Amino acid sequence: MIAISDLLFRYPEGEFELNVPELEVAAGETVAVIGPSGSGKTTLLHLMAGIRLPQEGQVVTDEVEVTSLDDGERRDFRIRRIGMVFQEFELLEYLTVLDNILLPYRINGSLKLDRAVRERAASIAEQVGIADKLNRLSTRLSHGERQRVAVCRALVAEPVLLLADEPTGNLDPTNTLKVLDILLDAAEATGATLVTVTHDHDLLPSFDRNIDIMELLNITEKPQITQINADNDPDSPQITQMNTDEDSEKPQITQINADNEGEG
Ligand code: ADP
Ligand code: MG
Repeated sequence: MIAISDLLFRYPEGEFELNVPELEVAAGETVAVIGPSGSGKTTLLHLMAGIRLPQEGQVVTDEVEVTSLDDGERRDFRIRRIGMVFQEFELLEYLTVLDNILLPYRINGSLKLDRAVRERAASIAEQVGIADKLNRLSTRLSHGERQRVAVCRALVAEPVLLLADEPTGNLDPTNTLKVLDILLDAAEATGATLVTVTHDHDLLPSFDRNIDIMELLNITEKPQITQINADNDPDSPQITQMNTDEDSEKPQITQINADNEGEG
């Protein structure tokens, strides 16, 4: 499902460099990615999704060489094949919970929004415990509730690849297990591949494989990162940078804002 080779990625601004000699994820595999804050887990997911492009190397996702697609093709590819739970959710504030969940259908003409889809959306919302909030604006939700909306949206179009960036990071233990089960069940039911970033080590045995990003990356020349590993801080201050980034390679949800005047 995913084949990365000789990848080198650098943000246009800043020092950070991600170097992945090789990574493969099989179709149908469930993988947990762990690693300290700032080590590049979110960046790696965005590269897998084609939200970011590497300066060197190849990213083949679902047999598509992502690096060879133009912007429009990559957006299309993402919406149709990938369900992404963004670390900062990327919900649209001016839409209700239901419309946020159905967003993939609003922005891609090839996905047909019919009754079955609406029923599926309602059913997933029920499973994660937000069924009573479907008509509310997403701004009027707690963090944990927003996170669950983001999970619903990632699942609704039954993608072949689920990329979940700390999808339980804002949830209490009960909801953490609920959301984990829903992600794993969805992957199993549809044969989808699941890559989840998590800081919760209790969840790791539930996955087919665990990838420690520090082992994956070529980090021999950066011993200072190993020290960060010691306190394993789950807070991720980089999000503010991402949202204000002038770079055109933003997550697709942020781009959609440009087409809609109602934001904020
Ligand atoms: P993680 O998800 O493991 O916490 P990230 O992939 O978000 O790490 O970030 C890896 C590094 O890249 C961090 O040092 C972060 O500050 C930096 N970074 C993240 N986003 C950007 C950006 N848009 N521009 C420049 N640097 C960034
Ligand atoms: Mg992150």
